[in-house]
This record gives sequence, C-alpha cells and structure tokens, in this order.
Amino acid sequence: MAVTSDSSVRHGKLKAAEALLDEKPLLSETELALIRFTSDYYHHPIGEVVAATLPALLRRGSALFPVVTMTAATPAGAATALDVLEKRAPKQAALMALLVDSGANGVDADTLTEMMPGWRRVSGALLEKGLIEQFEARAEPREAVVELEMEPGPTLNEDQQHAVDAVRQKPGFGAFLLDGVTGSGKTEVYLDLIQNVLRDGRQTLLLVPEIGLTPQLTGRLRRRLGVEPALLHSGLTDLERLSGWREARSGRAKLVVGTRSAVFAPLPELGLIVVDEEHDASLKQQEGLRYSARDIAIVRASRAGVPIILGSATPTLEVLRHCEEGGYQRLELPQRAGGAEPPAVRIVDVSRSRLDEGLSDTLIDAIDKHLANNGQALLFLNRRGFAPTLICTACGNVCECRRCDARMTLHAEVGRLRCHHCGAERVPDEHCEECGSPLKPLGAGTQRIEDVLKRRFPDRAVLRVDSDSTRRKGSMDEALSAAALGEADILVGTQMLSKGHHFPKLTLVGVINADQGLFGTDFRSDERMAQSIVQVAGRAGREQMRGEVLVQTAFPEHPFWQQLVSESYHGVAIRALAERRTTGWPPYSRLALIRAAAHQRGDAHAFLSRALRRVEALGRDAVRALGPVDALMARRAGRYRAQLLLQSDDRAALHSVLRQLRPELEAEPAGRKVRWSIDVDPLDLF
Ligand code: ADP
Ligand code: ZN
Ligand code: ZN
Repeated sequence: MAVTSDSSVRHGKLKAAEALLDEKPLLSETELALIRFTSDYYHHPIGEVVAATLPALLRRGSALFPVVTMTAATPAGAATALDVLEKRAPKQAALMALLVDSGANGVDADTLTEMMPGWRRVSGALLEKGLIEQFEARAEPREAVVELEMEPGPTLNEDQQHAVDAVRQKPGFGAFLLDGVTGSGKTEVYLDLIQNVLRDGRQTLLLVPEIGLTPQLTGRLRRRLGVEPALLHSGLTDLERLSGWREARSGRAKLVVGTRSAVFAPLPELGLIVVDEEHDASLKQQEGLRYSARDIAIVRASRAGVPIILGSATPTLEVLRHCEEGGYQRLELPQRAGGAEPPAVRIVDVSRSRLDEGLSDTLIDAIDKHLANNGQALLFLNRRGFAPTLICTACGNVCECRRCDARMTLHAEVGRLRCHHCGAERVPDEHCEECGSPLKPLGAGTQRIEDVLKRRFPDRAVLRVDSDSTRRKGSMDEALSAAALGEADILVGTQMLSKGHHFPKLTLVGVINADQGLFGTDFRSDERMAQSIVQVAGRAGREQMRGEVLVQTAFPEHPFWQQLVSESYHGVAIRALAERRTTGWPPYSRLALIRAAAHQRGDAHAFLSRALRRVEALGRDAVRALGPVDALMARRAGRYRAQLLLQSDDRAALHSVLRQLRPELEAEPAGRKVRWSIDVDPLDLF
C-alpha cells in the first residue's frame, strides 16, 4: 500500500519482503484510494479488499505481463541460403523461412505450434548451428487492435435524445437514473453516450448483471461501437481475466464490460460509467467482501468527476429516493421504442378455482391460444426471497408474529413457525385465526410445472431453465438461444429467464405462484416481487404481436396487484417508499448485519450477545440492535447461524460504532469458535 520507514506492528511480527514483483506499482493512487474507501466503508480488512480487486494470477504473484519464450532467426540464420538447406532438411528450411519472415522479435511457442505443429523436433538442430535463438520476452496481447466496421443505429427518439442531452449538458460528475420500461431503448442511450466518450479517446466502464453478459450483448457492442470490448467476468480463464485487466489498465481498452468485480478495474482514462439493471441483486457480493458494485461505482464516478448512468425498468427504492431528493437526475423513457405496445396485464383469481398442480384453466386456455397463433409462452415462478409460510385457504390470512409486524416462517423440518425479526416461535395452528378455515403451506417448483405442461401439451416442446437445468457450463447460453430461435414452445423458469432477454416469438407470460412474494419475510419483499414480475412481463410481445401477461393470485383485491396493473412498477414503488418512510426501513435508515456461525448454537449466540452489549454501550441511542436471532436457515453445512441487525438513521453513527466494534470483536475470546462477518447495507436480511 505504501513504503514506510516505521511501523506500529511489533518488530518480531513484521515479515521480510521476499521478492520485488513489479518495478512500478500495479495500482495507481486513485485505485488505492478506492480500495481504502471500500475497506473503511465495508469494515473489511484492507488486504482482503486488495485481493478481491485483483485478478487471480496477480493475487498469486504472477507478473503483470506473463513471460514467454520467443524463437527468432539469428543474423546468421537470416543470411543462410534456404534453397540449399531445403534439399538436405526440408522441415528445418520451412521453420527457418517462417522465422526469417517473422523478423527479429521472434514468435512465441504457441503461435509456432499453430503454424507448424512439429517445429520443436527440428528446432534443436537449428539452435546448435546458431541459425536460430531463443530468449524470454513479455507476452504481448495476441490480437492486434482492429478497427471494426461500425453498424449504424436507429435515430434516437425524443425521450432518448432528451436523456442523452441531459447527460452531456452536465459537466463532471452527475448521477442519472435512466428509468425506462423494458424495451424502451436504454441500451441505445448507453451506446450513444459511449460513442461520445470514445471520440474523446476515453474509457467507459459498463457493469452488467451476471446473467446479462451474453454473447448477444457483446456482439451488439462490438458491431455498434467498432471496438473490441475488454471483458471481465467469472466465466473467463485466469489468463483471459488478467489480459482484460491489463488492457483496462493500459488505457488501450476503450470499453470495459464486466460483472460486479469489474468496478475495481484500473481505468486511467475513465470517462463514463454505466450500470445496467441497477436493481439486480448480483451487483451485491454476498460473501467475503460484501460490497455493492453499484454503490462503489457511484463513489468512483464522483471521485473521477465523470457521469454515471444507472439503468433500470424497475429502479430500487434507494435510487428513487435520491431522485426524489434531487441528488440524482431521473431520465424517463416511458414508451417502448420501435413501436411495440406494452403487454396487457391481467389478474387471474385462483382463490376459488381448481388448479392442476398450480395451473388455472384460464392460464392453460391462454397458452393454447397463444401457441395456436404461433406465439411462445413463458411460465415464471418467483422463487427469490421465498420463505415458506402458512396461508389460509379461504381468507388468505397469513400467520403473523404477535410481537412484530412480520410474517412467521414455516420450518417444516421441526414443525414450527418462527419470526425472523425477534426470534419468537410457536407450534403452527391448524386453522385460521380469522375465519377458522384450514391453513396450508405456500410453495411450488419448476419441475412440477414442467411435468404438468408435458402432460397437458404432449405435442409441444417444453424447456425448463433454472439453476438446476443450467449447471453445466454453456448450457445457459444454449437454452437461451433455443428459446430465442423459437425452438421451445413453452419456457418454464425462475428469475434467470426474466432478465434482459429478447425472445422474438414470446407473446404470453404466466406468473404462477405470485403470492409467495406478497408474503415474504423481508421488508424488501414487495419491491422485489414487483421488480421480478415487471421484468418478466417485459419479455412478452417485444415485436409485432402484442404481449399478454397473466398473473395468478389468490388475492386479486390486494392493493399490490391493483397498483401493479394500473400504475405499473411506479405505483408499487411510490407506495413502498412511503411505507418505508413510516416504518423507518432503508432507504430511510441504514443497516448493518453481523452474522455468526458456529458448531454450537450457543457459541454463535454468545458471540453476538457480546457484540450486542458493545453496540449498546458504543451506539447509545443512535444505533438500534435487533436480535440476536437464528438465521432463516438456522443450520447450514453443520454450522448454526445467527445474526444481529444494527439499524440507524444516522450513517455516521452506525459507521463509528462499526469502526470501534470490529477490532474488539477480532480480539474477542468468544470469537474463536465463531465465523463472523459484517455486512454493510445488506440486501438479504435472512
Ligand atoms: P432496453 O435496453 O431498454 O431493453 P433496447 O435498447 O435493447 O431497449 O431497445 C429495444 C429494441 O428497440 C431494440 O430492438 C432496439 O434496436 C430498438 N430501438 C431502440 N431505440 C430505437 C429507436 N430510437 N428507433 C427504433 N428502434 C429502436
Ligand atoms: Zn382465514
Ligand atoms: Zn417477531
């Protein structure tokens, strides 16, 4: 991090440097400052932050530029008469000819093998004769930078142009929410702005959700911008990642596209940051260094004095609040570009109808109709944030905690209902408290739905896409292209299918178990539910045929559905934001979650109780502590998990407590048996 002549670390504990890896520091002062900020903000050890930001090879001590062995013709070799050599040793002559042509810089072994597979066998004799030589050199990027042919884009519509102008008119840092319905042409706005940055010779960082970095997207960027994007994501080999990082660092890569960790890529000529689908949960790392790539991107843009665009059809309440209060500028694209109409959303009341494994007759009929019209259907199961609960079959009443305004979660394995806010638990009732009708658990799976569909539509191709069906590398891309080409008639899947994809034939979207999200345990349940439904609905009818969305619910009168149908996502978001203001949940307060796991449940709780007492002493009235309570999945991989939630209206107060707390917890004897972590701005509370 720095060179210094003294240290507060005891002499015996200091270690000697073993080797000098780089002549010049890998990271510039700007990048080091971002690392320091990240370490401070997330209360995470700085060494681990550095490690998390570096490509694996650099972390393990490789040089920035890998060294390769080059082979080249010597001056004597270049002067040799090749036709003479040809007669005696034709293979040697062929290799000589190749090397003479390649010049004095030589050729690396991999390239030689490609050009002349048996070259090693003949190289010995040539080396002995002094006609060729071998030496070590820095591996250079293999593909030369090519200027690609640029494909023109559509003329921007008025809303798009307005968005572009707003960003261009503001010099220096500015945060913009590009709030555009699905298919409204957000990507076209990014492209226009990126082109402008390219013209200035500066770099753009484009962050996308894990599932969004498809060959479709990179192809579009390449064609439209005429540059080769440098990629940084987890699907690459270590060497490819290092090479992308190097290209970014050298300033040669004008466009760096990556998932979460790319936010730390060194970018000396940074001119613009775009975060696509800013609401996507994959932008937040959920283990180790638990950072939000979106939030770090905002800090980074502000320090670099460049604009940042956050794009989404379903922006988070955090970002909407900033817009409301004037910190960020909201740019709207209210209509689909290219003239496609928004899909018609219809609520299907399933509270009284008979369901075939979760599918209503209305939905089955609609599938029939759309397939007959040459359309494609997508059935969506919302499983994120899913917590099993008990629900009344007649009135829809859900078992609630008696001490908190929260739903109880069913732990089927122990036959108990638990509250994950306060830890209360009880034996589940058999009948509804309100109306006395029987209660039943809420839940359904993609495989069950796939089976029904195959039975009901035996002549149709059904394709299931979820984390189980796409475990094999490349299978996700295969499934998506099969879906896009219309090879599958009916798609069944989870969130994976809902994001950013373009399926030209898709006209019907069915949301099967919508109610699960209505009764989630998390204060973000409503927001997430609305996001996933609006995102998946956005897949329907993106071309000529108008799309239709059927949402099955047992609670058609619930205000959530009313708002979603009449005012779309924003209706739900405005209500949720008002609710959060009243209840004091984020974005109207700040959270940090301390998690602990141990082989003995008591150890995890004892540790968190210690933490609780310290927080009470340090935080006074400014920081509230809730818990400790068991985690939703109280036992995982043989460890008991518990958590303590810290909440404050005052960010500085919360951070000051955490700053003092962390070293104390590190020194805490009760911590030895416990694995613990601090999660600042946690996304998943349970
Ligand atoms: P988003 O990123 O908001 O989902 P895209 O930028 O991918 O939207 O645009 C959706 C579709 O509309 C694409 O096929 C795109 O080519 C087309 N499109 C975008 N902007 C325009 C425009 N101004 N005129 C015509 N078609 C457009
Ligand atoms: Zn009831
Ligand atoms: Zn409770």
